[in-house]
Amino acid sequence: MTSSSTPPPATTRPIAERHLFGPGPCNPYPEATLALASPLLGHLDPDFLAIMDETCDLLRYVWGTDNRRTLPLSATGSAGMEAAFVNTVEPGDVVVVAVNGLFGERMVDVAGRHGAQVVRVDHEWGRPVDVERVVAAHPSPKIIAAVHAETSTGVRSDIAALGAAKGDALLLVDAVTSIGGIELRADDWGIDIGYAGTQKCLGVAPGLAPFTISDRAFARRVEKPSSWYLDLGLLGGYVGEAAGAGKRTYHHTAPTAMVASLHAGLRRIADEGLEKVWDRHAEAGRLLQDGLEAMGLTLFAEEGSRLPELTTVRVPEGVDSAAVRGYLLERHNLEIGAGAGAFASSVWRIGLMGHNARPDRVALILAALEDALA
Ligand code: PLP
Repeated sequence: MTSSSTPPPATTRPIAERHLFGPGPCNPYPEATLALASPLLGHLDPDFLAIMDETCDLLRYVWGTDNRRTLPLSATGSAGMEAAFVNTVEPGDVVVVAVNGLFGERMVDVAGRHGAQVVRVDHEWGRPVDVERVVAAHPSPKIIAAVHAETSTGVRSDIAALGAAKGDALLLVDAVTSIGGIELRADDWGIDIGYAGTQKCLGVAPGLAPFTISDRAFARRVEKPSSWYLDLGLLGGYVGEAAGAGKRTYHHTAPTAMVASLHAGLRRIADEGLEKVWDRHAEAGRLLQDGLEAMGLTLFAEEGSRLPELTTVRVPEGVDSAAVRGYLLERHNLEIGAGAGAFASSVWRIGLMGHNARPDRVALILAALEDALA
């Protein structure tokens, strides 16, 4: 124990450069890391506001949307989820939630906390959302909510099909692990409200939640949401819709270094070309999944719905899951994730996101895992 009058002794180790192959964060694009070391700008500096505006334009590009209300919220992906529900749910509103993993489960919790009458549609973990069952769950919900890429199971769901079948409901989608990694077309697919995170396939550190909302959904929003910080109406005065010259008003001190980093990561994606970036993720995921099967391992997510950016694989019988992960970290400086929920010790989660979605990273993982299992 130290007292408050003396500084604590330095006990932490120098930060090692890890290979971040878990479910996120991943190793950022070098451009995003470099931007963090740029001189800091104030949140109302015209140079920063230009970066913010271009970041919003780049976010429209990766979301596949023309929504004028597309912005980075100053908090992690979970705050994006919170903002999505707190701005759209009045007590008693019916919200149908497709639950096929941990993050669908979290949506149920968050929607319920904001007073929604939640109708949950449960699925076996490892399987995609069953669109027919979800739309049949209630005749006139205000919102239908689903996770595009379930990070807990490595499964992709068909959001385009959900959008085509949603009727008058608003479609609310978690794109935390899909954005910048697999095809995502918010406008074409009928996504009304979407939130994401920076630390996965966008290849930036955690800390911001890219968010988008259509005019249709904004018109049906809660007049005065119970959260001041996440009130999209108030936020619009600083970023997004009311960003015209001279009209900005202070709302909160935006994390300017993080926004500059996101801007750099998004520029990198735009320079490469979004569809090429999706192809790069697809190739890396296929190589990894083929390599794991060639080692005799069994993949967890249902075939046909496997995410390339997040592979789930069963821990072989008799192998201590945590010991293998510990060995990979100590010996190879390489992080992979444990499974989620009931699969915590029987599944590993291996991420190839953003800058890590490359064949040389795949070779590294396969070699290290072979060593760990030898
Ligand atoms: N939704 C999904 C699908 C996620 O994978 C995560 C995080 O892993 C979240 C939401 C929550 O995001 P965060 O941890 O950035 O708050």
